Amino acid sequence: MLECHDLSVFYGPHLALAGVSINIKRGEIVTILGANGAGKSTLLKTISGLVDHEDESEIFIDGRSISDWDPHQIVEAGLSMVPEGRDLFGELTVLENLMLGAYPRRARGEETTNLDHVMTLFPKLAERRKQMARTMSGGEQQMVAVGRAMMSAPSILMLDEPSLGLSPLLCSELFKALAKIRKSGVGILLVEQNVKQSLAISDRGYLLETGRITGEESAEVLANDQAVLRAYLGGITRLESRRSERLSTREILKSNIHDLIKHAEQRQSDHITTMRLRSGDAQDQQRR
Ligand code: ATP
Repeated sequence: MLECHDLSVFYGPHLALAGVSINIKRGEIVTILGANGAGKSTLLKTISGLVDHEDESEIFIDGRSISDWDPHQIVEAGLSMVPEGRDLFGELTVLENLMLGAYPRRARGEETTNLDHVMTLFPKLAERRKQMARTMSGGEQQMVAVGRAMMSAPSILMLDEPSLGLSPLLCSELFKALAKIRKSGVGILLVEQNVKQSLAISDRGYLLETGRITGEESAEVLANDQAVLRAYLGGITRLESRRSERLSTREILKSNIHDLIKHAEQRQSDHITTMRLRSGDAQDQQRR
């Protein structure tokens, strides 16, 4: 089990995390929901030992404090992260990238079993094991990144926006694989902007706003909370959202002026509703 108590992080004078406390049990998927800049990546990097926290902050794995450990020691303790952007070695093959994940002592001797497990999770990687990583599609590269993290036999897996830029098909393939990983007893901490799909496979979720946890609910409650769904993009990935915001030239030529005005008005009204919901929630929080 992963427990974080009172995590606070400064970047110079900027307070990026303010007393964040969360926990993830084995066999559980927990999603962190938060707008851009809320501190989601900082939270994962801090837990991984890549970013320093304040002295009073504490992080435990299975009751053992890892608060001041180096990143490689934290991986040895059973915590593995799939970073945003994947950080693969593009000139190495799929298999070579996967084997790089098997370096911790905890995974040595079990490389074949772990590799079998990864290939079962992502059969495409078995077919492509000799392919250079940089020549794979975004979704396939994401599978390599998750597979590499799984090669260290983690008890807790953390993923930073794994669905970013993925096609809906690959996205749902990835989420299905995460659900299978959870069944094997691994706890998963997921940072996602694809709210609907991530909540669909999660047990619980935390809301992170400007470095503070402002809510914790079961995934079922969050998935039915209209304010949450609207505030966090309604389950549209950032790439899809950018695509839908920009009407293509062909669409513009096809549309008549009334459709365009209706589109602009709808976007403005959605924006105002989201801003109202956010400021209403923040005020409720202050009153409490
Ligand atoms: P996004 O979804 O856009 O990636 P996020 O929720 O992951 O956002 P973080 O990347 O953790 O947010 O950033 C939290 C805050 O800390 C932001 O205000 C960001 O500008 C700031 N920040 C992040 N990294 C650094 C850094 N290395 N130096 C200074 N400020 C930083």
